[in-house]
Amino acid sequence: MTGGEVLGSNQLDETHDPSRRSWIASANVSGADFPIQNLPLGVFRQGGRLGEPRIGVAVGDFILDLRGIAARIEEEIEGASQFLAAPSLIPLMNQEPRVWSAVRKLIFRFLEAGSPSRHVCEPHLVPMRAAEMLMPVRPGGFIDFFASIQHATNAGRLFRPASPLLPNYKYVPIGYNGRTSTIRCSGAEIFRPNGQRKPAGQDQPDFGPSSQLDFEMELGIFLSGHTQIGQPVPIAGAWSHIFGFCLLNDWSARDIQAWEYQPLGPFLGKTFATSISPWIITADALRPFRVPAFARAAGDPTPLPYLFNAADQDAGSVDVKIEVWFRSESMSADSRPSRRIGAASTRELYWTPAQLIAHQTSNGCNIEAGDLYGSGTVSGETEHSLGSFLEITFAGKKPVAICDGVTRTFLEDGDEVTLKGRCRRSGFVSIGFGNCSGVIVPGPSM
Ligand code: CA
Repeated sequence: MTGGEVLGSNQLDETHDPSRRSWIASANVSGADFPIQNLPLGVFRQGGRLGEPRIGVAVGDFILDLRGIAARIEEEIEGASQFLAAPSLIPLMNQEPRVWSAVRKLIFRFLEAGSPSRHVCEPHLVPMRAAEMLMPVRPGGFIDFFASIQHATNAGRLFRPASPLLPNYKYVPIGYNGRTSTIRCSGAEIFRPNGQRKPAGQDQPDFGPSSQLDFEMELGIFLSGHTQIGQPVPIAGAWSHIFGFCLLNDWSARDIQAWEYQPLGPFLGKTFATSISPWIITADALRPFRVPAFARAAGDPTPLPYLFNAADQDAGSVDVKIEVWFRSESMSADSRPSRRIGAASTRELYWTPAQLIAHQTSNGCNIEAGDLYGSGTVSGETEHSLGSFLEITFAGKKPVAICDGVTRTFLEDGDEVTLKGRCRRSGFVSIGFGNCSGVIVPGPSM
């Protein structure tokens, strides 16, 4: 699987054709997250805890239950009755990318307006409102990167105004290994963590609820296809290990983080919770939205050879506009809508997904299907394109006015944070990521 090419953004097929429509009306509404050109994969259940997890595809306001039509798909794709009837996406992720593409094309054909297979699918459509979304996989590994040079600069400036970027930044895709057991699907409550804090001017640390709870607006990347320990993935083959993308909120307790992170990096300030959006937008669906790698400033080093590939430079980044929306408990009580507090594009990330994979495996560390990367906080250059309160409020020094009567430095109990993501390109149907939401609730008492 490592011999694949970096897929060019020009490798489009009928599933990207903007003229195609579905026989499901809600998929054809302008601005819908899940038109027929998207077809993201997720895992859902009905009937509460006793409901069995099933793989589904989002289309309009519905979920197509793939277990229900797996036998029909098996007629054309060998093995489908096994890997599509599973309670997790791992067996599908372990297929070759050509199998993912074949499944996508077949489902597209089934759902397209005028399809003779409509009767096959109709009994297996579930209204989204009647389903509960579950984790699409249980990742075995989670790595949080730091790929936005703007975020790295903004965060660095708070602590090192004279030299915000450390000398390694433009050479090494910085990251750390995170915790997987607390990665939760959108909608899960976020407990305010307790921890050690040592505010400036205080001699000794104390222990208690974080008072600097923050969000981080990130792109999630799901990896696929096992590799062997000791066999790095060359950058040219990296895209064959990208199954798809989601939104990721890397909740962060800044006060706990600030006291604990030196010298080994983030720990309890991060491990209490990570939220992801439940639908995996496949690498195939994102092909029209591939863009050139970030244009490095004059004087920046060329990536070292193992991180450099011409095709990756040409079309190795993705253009996902991510937004963060905020609503406090009082805003909810007054039926006031959420307010957008930041928006930025992943095309501004300094490192491409393929560079992250090539780097992470360069020491011989393997990949397991379902491994998850966070891109790192996605921030842009303007004050409206910041992906964390740390940056928006200058580490709490400048409260931000959200709306009448609501200001924040960091998150308070009852606050709801929602990430939204969308890809747009002239001449193509825009696709959405669905939501990644979480509400802060009081933490465990000690
Ligand atoms: Ca992060």
